[in-house]
Amino acid sequence: MTETTSTTGTGLLAGKRILVAGVTHPSSIGYAVAEFAQQQGATVIISNFGRALRITERIAKRLPETPPVIELDVTDPDHLETLPDKLAEHVDGLDGVVHSIAFGNPETLLGGKFMDGPWEDVAQAVQVSAYSLKALAAACRPAMTDGGSIVGLTFDASQAWPAYDWMGVAKAALESTSRYVARDLGAEGIRVNLVAAGPLRTIAAKAIPGFTDLEEMWATRAPLGWDNDDAVPTARAVGALLSDLFPATTGEIVHVDGGFHAMGA
Ligand code: NAD
Repeated sequence: MTETTSTTGTGLLAGKRILVAGVTHPSSIGYAVAEFAQQQGATVIISNFGRALRITERIAKRLPETPPVIELDVTDPDHLETLPDKLAEHVDGLDGVVHSIAFGNPETLLGGKFMDGPWEDVAQAVQVSAYSLKALAAACRPAMTDGGSIVGLTFDASQAWPAYDWMGVAKAALESTSRYVARDLGAEGIRVNLVAAGPLRTIAAKAIPGFTDLEEMWATRAPLGWDNDDAVPTARAVGALLSDLFPATTGEIVHVDGGFHAMGA
C-alpha cells in the first residue's frame, strides 16, 4: 500500500469543501479519495444510496474524521433537487465534487454477454454511470459559487476490453459527458476531469465476471507494475485534480494505470 502523509490544515486541499459521491466500503475508490482529501486538509462530505447507505455510515467512522453522510441516489430527481439544502446543513459551499459511481447489471451486461445485453439494463448503466455526471454537476452547481473542480472515475474507454462489455460503452459515454460538462461549466470556473484507473479490487469490480482477466493483463503489461489492492495512487491523482495545481486543465483524462495504456503489447 502507498503511504500518505497527514497534513490536516496545511495540505494540498486545505480549506476545500468536497463532496465524495459513491463510498460503500474501505475498498471503494471514493473512500481512498475521502481519506486522502481529509489528510490534505479538506472538509469532506460523503454520499451513497439505498441499503448501502447504512454501511457507509458505519465505515465513515474509520476515516481520520467522521464526515457527514448524505443520501444521494443519482437517478432520483428528489435527491438531486434537495442536494444543495442537504449540503448547506454542513458546508457553506463546495469547491470539489467527486463522482465515484457506476452500475451495470453483471448478470446481463458484463462478462462476455455483449451481444445479448438488453436495452433496459444498458439504459440503466448509462444513466447511473454517465448521465449522472451531468446530473450531479447540475445539482452541485449552485453551491460552487467560486468555481471548483469535478472529478470522475473511468476505465479507459478508448478500446474494447474482455468482460467489461456494456460498462465500456457506459464509460465512453461518461468520458464524452465530462467533456460537455467541462464545456458548459468552464465559464463559471468549474473544471471537469476524469481519472482512468487500472483494475482495483472494489465491490463493483469484483462483481464483474472475468475481472481477473483484466488483472492478469495488468500484472504482465504495466511498466510500473500495478497493485490492484492499492487505490491510493488513484486517490492522489483525484486529489491533485481537486487542488489548485491544475487551474488550466479541464475535459482531460489522467491515466493512473501503471502506464498500461501507453503500451502496445
Ligand atoms: P464501489 O462499488 O466501491 O463504488 C461504486 C459506488 O457507486 C458505490 O458506492 C455504489 O453504491 C455507488 N452507486 C451505484 N449506483 C448508484 C446510484 N444510483 N446513486 C448513487 N450511487 C450509486 O466501486 P469502485 O470501483 O470504487 O467504483 C468507483 C468508480 O471507479 C466507478 O465509476 C468505477 O467504474 C470506477 N473505476 C473502478 C475501477 C476498478 O477497477 N475498481 C477502475 C476504473 C474506474
